[in-house]
Formats: sequence, C-alpha cells, structure tokens
Amino acid sequence: MTKPPEPAPDESSRRLTGDVLVVGAGVTGIYQLYRAREAGFSAQLVEAGDGVGGTWYWNRYPGARFDSESYTYAYLFSKELFDEWEWPEVFAEQPETERYLNHVVDRFDLRRHMRLGTSVTSATYDEQSATWTVVTDDGSELRTRFLVAATGVLSVPFFPDVPGREDFRGDSYHTGLWPETPVDFVGKRVAVIGTGSSGVQIIPVIADQVASLTVYQRSANWCTPLNNAPITPEEQAQLRAGFEAMREVLNTSVAGFLHPAHDRTASDDSEEERRAFFEKMWNSPGFSKLSSNYTDLLFNDAANAEWCEFIAQKIRNIVEDPALAEQLIPKDHRFGEKRPPFVTGYYEAFNKPNVSLVDLKETPLVRINERGIETTEGERQFDIVVWATGFDFGTGALMRMGIRGRDGLALNEHWADGPKTFLGVQTTGFPNFFFPGGPHAAAGNNPRYNGDQVDFSTDALTYVRDHGYDVIEVDAAAEDKWTAMVDRGAVDAPFGEKSYFFGTNVPGKPRKYLLNSGGRPKLFKEIEKVIRSDYKSFRLSRSSDGGDRRQG
Ligand code: NAP
Repeated sequence: MTKPPEPAPDESSRRLTGDVLVVGAGVTGIYQLYRAREAGFSAQLVEAGDGVGGTWYWNRYPGARFDSESYTYAYLFSKELFDEWEWPEVFAEQPETERYLNHVVDRFDLRRHMRLGTSVTSATYDEQSATWTVVTDDGSELRTRFLVAATGVLSVPFFPDVPGREDFRGDSYHTGLWPETPVDFVGKRVAVIGTGSSGVQIIPVIADQVASLTVYQRSANWCTPLNNAPITPEEQAQLRAGFEAMREVLNTSVAGFLHPAHDRTASDDSEEERRAFFEKMWNSPGFSKLSSNYTDLLFNDAANAEWCEFIAQKIRNIVEDPALAEQLIPKDHRFGEKRPPFVTGYYEAFNKPNVSLVDLKETPLVRINERGIETTEGERQFDIVVWATGFDFGTGALMRMGIRGRDGLALNEHWADGPKTFLGVQTTGFPNFFFPGGPHAAAGNNPRYNGDQVDFSTDALTYVRDHGYDVIEVDAAAEDKWTAMVDRGAVDAPFGEKSYFFGTNVPGKPRKYLLNSGGRPKLFKEIEKVIRSDYKSFRLSRSSDGGDRRQG
C-alpha cells in the first residue's frame, strides 16, 4: 500500500460539532455511540424518541416481547455487563428490554452525548470539507465528519391506504408508534387490524381486558408457540459460566441463534419419527422451529407441507369453532416463506366469547368511518382501532431523512430501484456515511449482525483516521458485487415475494430482496477480506488534497 500523506491541520474540521454523529438510539445506535467513543472519536447521537430503545421504545404495545432468547439478543461486548444483568425470562417483555437499554446507556455514560426528541430532517454532504451538515426538526445544524444512520429496518410504521382512516372518532394506535401513557382497554370495543408478529402478540394480552375484540385478518400466519419460561438462578449461573462458549456459537451461526442445526432431512425419518420430531419442535423455544428443524424443511415441498399440516392440526385442536380454525390456517404460503411469528395463547384467545375474526379475504375492507370499520359484511363500531400493519422495511427510515451525497445526489434517487450497498453499511456517492443495521444485512437475531456492522464501521473509521485520511467511500465495483450477491440470494431465499423482506407490503416500493442470504458467515468473510486488503474496496482520501484519492 502506498504511504498516505501526513495529516495536515484542517480549518473546517475545527468547526465540526463532532467526528461522528449517530442517528438513532436503538440497539444498534447505542452500541455505535459506545464503540465510536471507545475508539476515541468525539461522537454524539440524535434520536427522535423521547427515550432510548428504538424499536424497544416505540413498540411498547401490550404483549411486545423478544422472540430471540434475551441473553442472545443482549450486548455481548462486555462480560461485566452480561454478568450484572439478570434477564427474568428467556424471552423478555418490552419494559424489561427498555430498562436494560437504559441501564447500558447509563452504565457506559452515554446519555450525555445524546439528544433525545430530535429528528433529522436533512443531511447534506459537502465535498470540499468532506463533512455532513445535519439539520434537525428543532432547527439545529450539526456538522460532522462521519454520519452513521442506525435508524433500523423496522422503524417506519406502515399504514395501509384504507379510505377514511382519518375519519375515525375513537382512538387509533399503531403497534410501532405506541404512546408512553398506557392505553386503557378495559371495557372497550377494540379492533386489531393485522396478524403479523405484532398483531398476534397484542391480541391474546388485551383479549381479557376488552369488552369485545375484533381481529381483522387479511392473511393467516403460521404461528407456533414461543414457549417462554423464567430463567432460574441456576440457569443464570450457567449462562454466565458459558458466556464465551455462547458467543462462539452465536458468532458462527448463520442467523445469530444458539439453536443447533439438525443433522437430518425429513426423508431420513419415518412418518412416525417425523411426527415425534415435529412434536418436539412445537414444544421447543422460539426460532428453533426454523433453525433446528429438518435441514430441508424450507426447500422440500413435501416436508414443509407435512410440518404445515402438523401445525394446522394443532390449530384445529386448540380452536373450538372448526370454521374459525380453518380461517386461522394459512392457505397462501408455506412455513418460513414469511417471517413466522411465535405466540403465547394466540389461538386460545379465539375461544373467548368476546373475540371474533373478520377474514378480509372473504369480506374485504371497504373503508374506515367515524364509528368504526366497514367491510363487505357491513359495519362494526369501535372505541379503539389498533393498526398492527407492519413497517416500511429496510429502507423506510433512510429514505425519509433527506440524505444528499456528493453533487447533491439524493439517496432516494440513488436507490430509486432498490438499495445498493456494500456489506449493508455504505453506498457509493455518499462518502463518510454508514448505515449499520440497514438494508442488505442478514436475517435472524438482529443485534448480532447489526453489531458486526457497527464493529466494521468503527474499525473502518479508525483505520481512516489512523492513516491520515478523512474521507472514505465504497468503490462502485465492490457495491455492485455485494448488491448482485444480495439479488442472487433472493432466488434461493426461503422467503417469498409475499414477505415484506421484498418490500412488497408497501405499494410502489421496488420489489427487491432486502437481506443478505449468506448471513453472518458471508458478512464475516467479506469483512475479513476488506481488512486483509487494507480496505481496498474503499477509496480513502484527504479533503485538504482537493479530492485526491488513494486508488483501491
Ligand atoms: P407484518 O409482519 O408486516 O404484519 C402486518 C400485518 O398487517 C399483516 O397481517 C398484513 O396482512 C396486515 N396488513 C397490511 N396491510 C393491510 C391491509 N391493507 N389490510 C389488512 N391487513 C393489512 O408487521 P408486524 O406484525 O408489525 O411485524 C413486523 C416485523 O417486526 C416482524 O416480522 C418481526 O421481524 C418484527 N417483530 C418482532 C417481534 C418480536 O421480536 N417478538 C414482535 C413484533 C414484530 P398480510 O399478511 O396479508 O400482508
């Protein structure tokens, strides 16, 4: 590698608000702030919410909880932190997670570097000074060398364009924008629209409080039991003792889970053995139904159909009304084609006399009016409507931040046909801009691979600084290659186009696969290559050299 020029004093950098500005105080942003400060950068964070937590701040609806094991979702960068925190349950509920994230922020003294209740309205790159000017909704202008958007993939709630949504006179809530003041459901007539992971979590929890609960289901989902349990003191001690071993398993798992992969295909077993195995899966925790199931479950139609029929039979056994049970059994997709939800008492809730289902495939939505919801079966009146209708996945937040890179290029234009990235952290034309935890990351246990991306981004910034550069921008060829890999992965992905992972839930959004199918192993492999080659996939330069670039 050619020796970089000696660093020179840079007038413009003295006027900077800081070296690094992180946007978003979710799991990824908190870690990014911690890592950037630990690496010696002057780093600050802005967050739209009035509290920290990101997803775990906004999604405070009743019943919200992890479906990754708490201790595998938690930060693993500090053994002391791991040792001092006790997760009460295998799958912690939202208040516990919010409490944990606040604890982390205070324990590592990060709060004083955060501005809460502040949204970014625009971020513009200035090529000459190689800085970003970030404008926030309170009118402030922040100038930073490096901008890191840790704005998440599930952070922009999606409301379907149903006529009359604004006309409803009762209270409306979106699960992803839940208010801090608890909602009083007692004695209320409540509608829940949507039966994805959020809808199926809130439904059984509020069913006992409300006067009536009407579930508006467009597509049924393959829900299986979460199988949550308290963590006993003995288990807690074992977790602490096994910390390093657990980290090792998580680091080598494709999706960042502890569940061991099975070693058999469905056809290795007899029908009777398969039944017994499916029963074991049904009783196993969370995502093990995906990670530890038959190795060919997601790609072998017959095996998948048999598992689906097993679940369907479970639903028929739980739901007393046979016609209702049939409505709750998916008919339009295989298990794993969409991200499966995990539930506690969901199907059981439909046995309560105050809970009913409106199947929107049979009787589609017509409009919302001031009293309630009209479908082709007629009108039902409500006090509260809950929109559990999902998110603008992957690109939603980044496309709403008014980001403009070199030569005024808008990110929205650059990504008009879908995101283009390298490693899911940078895109060409937007120097000094990183977005760990954004599109093209892996699928699975989010904090694990988002953390990898934070580590990579921080290491890259450190390399840039320590080698006397102040500009880093991914090479177009590296971006093309990674994006092509993501697109190719879509062909073999278990998820189908009905999944929001393709953006298909948002009208007008390009149909592009938004995940890296290679998971963490692919990410690690590529990161290793980048580091071994001295960041050859990136163009590094010094702003004071008028844009001279080290050629990759
Ligand atoms: P989602 O999975 O996208 O589900 C949205 C629901 O709204 C679907 O049932 C969808 O029906 C329905 N819907 C959308 N537009 C509609 C319309 N026009 N009319 C009627 N129904 C409509 O969203 P989500 O449930 O919020 O979950 C999103 C993701 O967040 C999850 O997959 C998961 O990754 C994460 N999450 C995680 C947890 C956890 O960790 N425990 C909990 C909640 C959420 P269709 O299926 O027909 O489109």
